[in-house]
Amino acid sequence: MTDFKSFYDKLRASVKENLPKTELDERKAEQFYILCDCLIEQNKKINLTAITDIDSIIVKHIVDSVAVIDYIPENSRVIDVGCGGGFPTLPIAIMRADVHITALDSTAKKLNFVECCSQKCGLSNVETLNIRAEEASKLEQYRESYDIAVSRAVARLNILSELCIPFVKIGGEMLALKGNSSKEEFEEAKNAFFKLGASKTELILYSVKFGQESLERGIVRTKKTASTSAKYPRQFSKIKKAPL
Ligand code: SAM
Repeated sequence: MTDFKSFYDKLRASVKENLPKTELDERKAEQFYILCDCLIEQNKKINLTAITDIDSIIVKHIVDSVAVIDYIPENSRVIDVGCGGGFPTLPIAIMRADVHITALDSTAKKLNFVECCSQKCGLSNVETLNIRAEEASKLEQYRESYDIAVSRAVARLNILSELCIPFVKIGGEMLALKGNSSKEEFEEAKNAFFKLGASKTELILYSVKFGQESLERGIVRTKKTASTSAKYPRQFSKIKKAPL
């Protein structure tokens, strides 16, 4: 692991270039440093990520996740569906002490990492939930009870929508972080948004600089305007076989 000063310089430069309105102070940079250290160390024992060098972690995990924070209203209750090794959960929790985030994943060992890393970073706004998304959102305590559902790298948007939108309150939003297939996935998922009760939708396209490369990114915003029918979500085999 690189020393803190060179980490902070690299992180600050990437945030300035890619997210110029975002303020990053030294305390937050320290928390990101601890997160990277935990991720690199734990990844030697359990498979959390294929991205392991510090420059790539800064851009492809941290900056990529922080890009969503401007779309999360103050004091929101957020759920991250399929958080894996904690993205975007941990960057959101570091940057936004006002939000409370539930990190959901079906794999317990990944959530153990998220819990351990949250503790080491001194975060008190993260909780974990070990269950499949399509089972959790059938339960009264989770269904339509979040202001925001975020998700990254879990499934194609027409499938992901059925996993995320049932968690969202009317008036809340799903924010899906997508890569270079955003436009195509957005068009393909319009029927799913409508059927799940999210009729106001928007695709925000932007790019993230990584050295000489420009990585195409998209944030899909879907606002929930009606309650989701009790028939959704279906069993995962059905969602996958016949996406809405
Ligand atoms: N969001 C993280 C990221 O961007 O680095 C992790 C992405 S990883 C490729 C996908 C994660 O979604 C895995 O940890 C997997 O266990 C979880 N997952 C996939 N389908 C799920 C479901 N139906 N319910 C809960 N978790 C799910």
